[in-house]
Amino acid sequence: GTNAEFAPFEYINDDGECDGFDIGLIKAILSEAGYDCEVVNMEFKSLIGSLTTGGIDVTIAGMTITDERKQSVDFSTPYYTATQCIIVPIGSDITSLDDLNGRKVAVQEGTTGDLIVTPSDTNEIITDKNTVVKQFKKASDATVELLNGGVDAVVIDSSPAKKIVAANESKLTCFNDTSEEEYAIACRKGSDLAAKINELMDGMKADGSLQALADKYSLTLAE
Ligand code: GLN
Repeated sequence: GTNAEFAPFEYINDDGECDGFDIGLIKAILSEAGYDCEVVNMEFKSLIGSLTTGGIDVTIAGMTITDERKQSVDFSTPYYTATQCIIVPIGSDITSLDDLNGRKVAVQEGTTGDLIVTPSDTNEIITDKNTVVKQFKKASDATVELLNGGVDAVVIDSSPAKKIVAANESKLTCFNDTSEEEYAIACRKGSDLAAKINELMDGMKADGSLQALADKYSLTLAE
């Protein structure tokens, strides 16, 4: 299961197929493990539920390891380190995460970006209850909202943020102001798949094929 709205990790290519670093990685791992692999594209916020109920067996979706998610799924060892980026129009007065207090912000629903900017009892940075968080199913729709002036910023992971800014470089810029996050593959709790995935991913690190895949999608992997 994935959400093909997160280039370069997963996106729909010109042939209408799910493509990206994550897709290449999971196909390599599962074929090595002797499994057939069918990629199911769904909303990001539905992935963990579908994994728990057996609709899918594995999730790879640039998914950050969080304590809350760890209660529902087993994560593999991490394969990528990211941060959240704040995308703003060039010339914006927003220069820190704190500046988003009281502003309008677009996020992808159910992501760590959503968690970081939504005021809650545990959110120590965004404390202004007047902050408006607009949740979108697609990062592209959040970007359109920013370009149309419907929000003051988009908060999204660093790698897709760079792609979005590159595609709108005369209008948008981005900066990061959050701690690091780690992406991992999620498996159903208690399944033996996570251990197998770790073993095969170690093999791909050792033989250089993980790096080759990163190069193909212009990604710099964590050390
Ligand atoms: N890394 C973020 C998260 O896990 C966003 C992932 C995504 O949008 N595909 O919430």
